[in-house]
Amino acid sequence: MGAGATKGTIGAVGATVDLRSDTVTQPTAEMRRAMADAAVGDDQYGEDPTVNELEAVFAERMGMAAALYVPSGVMANQLAIRVLAPAGSLVVAGRRQHVVAYEDAAAAGSAGVQLFPVDDEDGLLDPADVRWARDAAHHHMPVPGLVAIENTHMPSGGRWWGPDSMRELCAAAGDVPVHVDGARIFNAEVASGIPAARLVEGATTVMACLSKGLCAPVGSVLAGPSDVIEEARAHRHRMGGAMRQAGIIAAAGLVALRTMVGRLAEDHERASRVAGAVVERWPGSGLGQVGSPTNMVIFRHDDPTALQAHLESHGILSATIAPGVVRLVTHRDVDDDGVDRTLVAIEGAP
Ligand SMILES: *Cc1c(COP(=O)(O)O)cnc(C)c1O
Repeated sequence: MGAGATKGTIGAVGATVDLRSDTVTQPTAEMRRAMADAAVGDDQYGEDPTVNELEAVFAERMGMAAALYVPSGVMANQLAIRVLAPAGSLVVAGRRQHVVAYEDAAAAGSAGVQLFPVDDEDGLLDPADVRWARDAAHHHMPVPGLVAIENTHMPSGGRWWGPDSMRELCAAAGDVPVHVDGARIFNAEVASGIPAARLVEGATTVMACLSKGLCAPVGSVLAGPSDVIEEARAHRHRMGGAMRQAGIIAAAGLVALRTMVGRLAEDHERASRVAGAVVERWPGSGLGQVGSPTNMVIFRHDDPTALQAHLESHGILSATIAPGVVRLVTHRDVDDDGVDRTLVAIEGAP
């Protein structure tokens, strides 16, 4: 408990090690101060100086012309799909990606598109699958309107896409726009040592979450060309996502972008330690091939319910992301002591 107090945040309650997600991170003391002091205005009139600054800073970080602050990553993804993919078109995406598996089928309802899920077992899409979807349009199949990728790709342990894979994908997409679900694009930046702007080169849009490993309490940002972002702004309003004095929360987002990116390296190091223990305990869990390139440890287990109960008896919270697939996520509110305890619990786990 003492260690939690020195961090200056509320942290995980008591001795609980919460490895369910990096979304559980608490805002930092600096964020809370920035929120209290934020200059604000009515964002729906474009008059919130802090929101405007956050959008400008993010657009620049991504090497794009403009950006839009939104309440959540799901809304950012759905806005990109709504603006870029015409109703009745295909959205080509990895079958385990967030837009396919974890957005409650939003794309079908809000954009009227048909998802075209392709293999993403190792985290990347095969450019041949994208080419196939484009060719298929000449054989009575629907026309692709968008290709969506995930960088980092969560279900593959947080694998990142490098510029070469990205270039090949964009070449295969041709004139079909590419959207990067970069909920954790800064984990990719830190793990690869390559600036995010280079990682998203060739894409039309990119979204990033400020509320995960970067510890902001709320919010995501969508960047792209000015005309696309203006259209997304109109759709944000239609979806009920236009806010008022949102500078209060955007202020924490600015602190996230300016001060919280570098420390993600610590999360990656801790995730590798956890991954090492998982591979040792369950050599057949599938983790050996992919490892944990960033902050996610994802592996198969025959009885996740028993495993989760065992971990919980050690004060460790875990998650499942699919039947028989367990997830452990490192983040700022999990320290070395928490990892040590996790390793002990894994050693004795069913
Ligand atoms: C969390 C997440 C989202 C959605 O973000 P929310 O803020 O939870 O709506 C989208 N894509 C990926 C890969 C994510 O991990």
